Amino acid sequence: MLLEPAEVWAYLIERGLIPATASGAVREVGDGNMNRVFVAVPDDPDIPSVAVKQAPPWIQKLGPSAPMSPERALIEARALRTFAEYAPKQTPTILDVDETRFAFTMEDLSDLTVLRTALNEGAELGRTSAEVGELVGRVTFATSVAGADPRARAALITQSVNPLLAEVTLQYLLGDPFVEAEHNHHHPSLAGAVEKLRRDPAVRTELATLRAAFNSNAQALVHGDLHSGSVMVGVRDGEPVVRVIDPEFAMVGPIGLDLGLYVANVVIAAVRSRNTAHLASIADCWEAFCAAWREGWPDRVDPLLDDGWLVRELREVWRDTLGFAAVEMVRRVAGYSHASDLETLPDPGPASAIVLGLGHKLLADREICGSRPDPRALAHLVGTSWEAQQ
Ligand code: ADP
Ligand code: MG
Repeated sequence: MLLEPAEVWAYLIERGLIPATASGAVREVGDGNMNRVFVAVPDDPDIPSVAVKQAPPWIQKLGPSAPMSPERALIEARALRTFAEYAPKQTPTILDVDETRFAFTMEDLSDLTVLRTALNEGAELGRTSAEVGELVGRVTFATSVAGADPRARAALITQSVNPLLAEVTLQYLLGDPFVEAEHNHHHPSLAGAVEKLRRDPAVRTELATLRAAFNSNAQALVHGDLHSGSVMVGVRDGEPVVRVIDPEFAMVGPIGLDLGLYVANVVIAAVRSRNTAHLASIADCWEAFCAAWREGWPDRVDPLLDDGWLVRELREVWRDTLGFAAVEMVRRVAGYSHASDLETLPDPGPASAIVLGLGHKLLADREICGSRPDPRALAHLVGTSWEAQQ
């Protein structure tokens, strides 16, 4: 049964999530991309408001002509439960999962703002990048070969296979932007640069490497879609609050996918506003990620994993981070789904050219930022790219 706003109140009473006698209002808040999201606010301020997310058996934005398994809502709810176990601070509380209706109910986050929107309006990142890095670090350590024993990992991998959403990523992030494809589009001033990128053999080999990593590197549980539209930020009781939402693409995959998507979107926001503080926060994200791994490290489940392996593993994650960040940069200016950060500029051309150029450089040579994890070198590369354009 697909919920309509008028049915949500009775549904919440039926699920025991709101007292039968309560009255209140329901509004739809989802921006209608893949799924529907409703918020129910009781008139009695002592009864907490809640949010319901339901996956229809198609992509919400495109309708029944674009079928997509509604199971994704259950994958998302399961991932949120795992996130809540290891990173409760940054994860919305799940109150109910409805396996028959492919819906779940969670904490209402309407007092927060989607990070991309906040950044477009000129907000600073503050602690956001560190919080995201901490969440990725804690969840990935706990679900990696260092944090989870082989049986637990086998169970996690089995229950986290997400082939339909993985196909979406393979097509729209790691495929179409690099070839001529129906839904691609780009600013007319980028035509030459896009063609050059698509023909560059170094880019093609790097892309192939990233596709293979995406398909086969079962490093840890990843969010799978961790861009600035999947983070909500705000202030509660005078303290900054960060919540990571929407892990319907979750799977056991390369950790650099999550860090790369986040970093790329920070870079895009920085290029939009020429904000060097945004760039500096990339180091906050990486350092918080590493700190979470180092915190878990003394309790690792496999004593044969030695300190040398940890150094190698973190290097590998950083390499992947740069690679996935690069494909995300390309996708957001030459693929299907562009970034509003750039599209809402009076002329998206110059900023888009910078983002595309960075993506191309990083794909052609990931060592351009050195061979060791060095987020400051990446920040420097980005900063010089917009100085060069002035
Ligand atoms: P989709 O899978 O369709 O992309 P999202 O999980 O990104 O859905 O949610 C879509 C929008 O709904 C978000 O951008 C946010 O504005 C709003 N939203 C999502 N979860 C909540 C929540 N728990 N409370 C309030 N608003 C939410
Ligand atoms: Mg989504």
